[in-house]
Amino acid sequence: MNKTSRDTDRIFNVILLGPPGAGKGTQAKILNQRFAMAHVASGDLFRENIAKQTALGLLAKSFMDKGELVPDDVTVRMVVERIAQPDCARGVVFDGFPRTQAQAQALDAALAQANKKIAAVLWVNVREEVLIQRLTARRICPTDGAVYNLLTNPPKIASQCDHDGSALIQRDDDKPPAVQRRLQVFHSQTQPLIDYYRAAGLLHEVQGEQPIERVQSEIVNIAERL
Ligand code: AMP
Repeated sequence: MNKTSRDTDRIFNVILLGPPGAGKGTQAKILNQRFAMAHVASGDLFRENIAKQTALGLLAKSFMDKGELVPDDVTVRMVVERIAQPDCARGVVFDGFPRTQAQAQALDAALAQANKKIAAVLWVNVREEVLIQRLTARRICPTDGAVYNLLTNPPKIASQCDHDGSALIQRDDDKPPAVQRRLQVFHSQTQPLIDYYRAAGLLHEVQGEQPIERVQSEIVNIAERL
C-alpha cells in the first residue's frame, strides 16, 4: 500500500483492542506503514526485554509463560517510557495495551499530560473457537520475528522461515494450556474495556474473521475518517 502525503500528515493515536489471536499485530503493522505511526506492542516490548535478559524481561517471562498478565505498574511504566520517544510524536497504534482498566486510565492520564488523547479504539472481534485455532497454529521465526500460521499462512518449506531458513518455533504462550488461560484473562480483565471505551464514544467494532485485506480496509476506512 502506498503512503500518501495526506495519510502521513495526519497524527492520531489509536488502540487495537481484541483477544489474543485476533490479528492485532498484523493490522498494527499495516497502520504503521500506511500512516507512519509508531507501533507500540507491549508483548513485543516484553519479548525484546526477554531476549536481552533484562530484569524486566525476567519478571515478565514468569507471567507470560503461564498466560497471565504482567502487573499493571511494570507494564504501564514500560509503555509510558516508550511513548515518550520521538517517533511516537507521529501518532501511535497501541497493540495489546491497555489490557486492564487500570492501564486504560493510566494511558489516558499519560496522554493528557502530553496534551494528547486517543482518537479511536478498534475492537477486533473474533469468535473463541477461531482464536484457539489461530493461536495454536501460529509459528514464529526466532531470527526475524516473521509470523506464520500453519493453517492460513504456512511457510513455503515446512517449519522453515521463508526469509532466512531458520527453524520456526511455537511461542510457549501459544501452547494449549497457556492459550486457555490467556483467553480467560482476556474475558475477565480486558473485555470490560469495550464498555469503558464505548462509554467514551471511541469504540469502533471491526469484524476480525474476514480475510486480512478486508479487515485492513475496514480499519483504514475508520482511520481515514479520524
Ligand atoms: P501479546 O504478544 O500481546 O499476545 O502478549 C503476550 C503476553 O505478554 C501476554 O499474554 C501477557 O503475559 C504479556 N502482556 C502483553 N501486553 C500486556 C499488557 N498490556 N498487560 C499485561 N501483560 C501484557
